[in-house]
Amino acid sequence: MAENSNELTRPKNYMEDVVFKHLDSIIASTDCCRCQRCRMDIAAYALNQLPSKYVVTREGEVYSKLLELQQQFETDVIIAIVKAIEVVRKNPRHNEELVEKNGGKEWRMQ
Ligand SMILES: [Zn+2]
Repeated sequence: MAENSNELTRPKNYMEDVVFKHLDSIIASTDCCRCQRCRMDIAAYALNQLPSKYVVTREGEVYSKLLELQQQFETDVIIAIVKAIEVVRKNPRHNEELVEKNGGKEWRMQ
């Protein structure tokens, strides 16, 4: 538990949270590649289509703010993700060099 509930958070783009909430289920409903590289490219493309929504909240205000933005922008977010999937499917960048590191997979930008 946070000691100081009046602590303000740094400005955060809540549109990111809304996009990531919908990202996987929309990708799953398509035949789009599900690799991490394509997933992150889809998220980045979608976020570039959407307005940034930077908010400063106090502890505990986070979820109500997110819910509010979700309701306000849900349709726009879904449209942006669907469009992003089309773009990434046509130009996947997952053939760039794959580096195995610490038992996980990491993409090296070229
Ligand atoms: Zn991929």
